Amino acid sequence: MAAPTTSRRAPGAARNMDDDNLTFETSPGVEVVSTFDQMGIKDDLLRGIYGYGFEKPSAIQQRAVLPIINGRDVIAQAQSGTGKTSMISLTVCQIVDTAVREVQALILSPTRELASQTERVMLAIGDYLNIQVHACIGGKSIGEDIRRLENGVHVVSGTPGRVCDMIKRRTLRTRAIKLLVLDEADEMLSRGFKDQIYDVYRYLPPELQVVLISATLPHEILEMTSKFMTDPVRILVKRDELTLEGIKQFFVAVEKEEWKFDTLCDLYDTLTITQAVIFCNTKRKVDWLTERMRSNNFTVSAMHGDMPQQERDAIMNEFRSGETRVLITTDVWARGLDVQQVSLVINYDLPNNRELYIHRIGRSGRFGRKGVAINFVRKDDIRILRDIEQYYSTQIDEMPMNVADLI
Ligand code: ADP
Ligand code: MG
Repeated sequence: MAAPTTSRRAPGAARNMDDDNLTFETSPGVEVVSTFDQMGIKDDLLRGIYGYGFEKPSAIQQRAVLPIINGRDVIAQAQSGTGKTSMISLTVCQIVDTAVREVQALILSPTRELASQTERVMLAIGDYLNIQVHACIGGKSIGEDIRRLENGVHVVSGTPGRVCDMIKRRTLRTRAIKLLVLDEADEMLSRGFKDQIYDVYRYLPPELQVVLISATLPHEILEMTSKFMTDPVRILVKRDELTLEGIKQFFVAVEKEEWKFDTLCDLYDTLTITQAVIFCNTKRKVDWLTERMRSNNFTVSAMHGDMPQQERDAIMNEFRSGETRVLITTDVWARGLDVQQVSLVINYDLPNNRELYIHRIGRSGRFGRKGVAINFVRKDDIRILRDIEQYYSTQIDEMPMNVADLI
């Protein structure tokens, strides 16, 4: 089989991304605009959008682009892989005035890789706009951050820690910022990040537009939005519509932990049909499993948050280009990362919460492609699996023998 190409968009988006109205609960007055041409987008940006390979807006884009570019506060939720993060790039490109060389939009993401991905997509879509975007993320040279920011950029896509640092040093000037976007908003407003986000928020101008995006937006998160949003437009997907039809979900009963390894080895040929991501719950487990796979002569790569950023970048590049096919990782990879060739996700360990499950399996089946998720389930995990199944009104069957045919 030929190695997957590195083209921006792989062919084969199978399903129609233009879902019907029943999927969403929207605020009154939200229009559905079915083409990019009808959105009042500037010509140079339209060229970039079409040039990037987007022909028609997805369901969430048809509903949320207009309120965002009209300056409304927006809470947008849709299934994984349906174009939410891309929508950030295209709306920010529309909103920013490139004649003003000041930071006008700030996008915060939970991982460095996601913040960089957003920078990259924005530069591609904004190719004809001469838009200056800077990924302001931990693990990179502070000197380089200072140089880029002092040179003047229009958009910052960053992680909270480094962005906060740059704001406090007054290197990142906030006075012209008119838009704050939180991608993976529920994660950004959860315990780990919340204080940092409020810290950043305090430095932003009062008439700020705020946009929240995620596939999962639990109730307690939606409740706190009134503290920093004004009359937001809500476009929310119903919970029982949240899993994607295109992603088939299975479990393998492994009885006990020790059986997982052999099960994974048996699946190795299936993993390499296209590309696969294997999730473990801890960094240590990632290291252990990687070691063990390698010593059994399987080729795998691994990534987690304790690795130096340079190494993380190298591993991401190899995986994105299709040079490596099997990636063992932690939840650092659970949210937002888009590699279209990933068609299989393995939960070597079941995730620690319901939201993570949706995000992990959503690394496959991007923009209507086929995907398969396989859960390794020990005897004492069955309860957790059934809970996930029930919560999302979805079906997780025992893995069939011919699973490779589904990829
Ligand atoms: P999400 O944030 O909802 O998970 P992304 O924005 O990461 O989704 O998009 C998933 C994939 O779909 C990406 O590869 C992106 O390039 C592609 N995509 C997004 N919007 C469109 C569109 N309107 N037409 C075609 N492909 C799209
Ligand atoms: Mg996303």
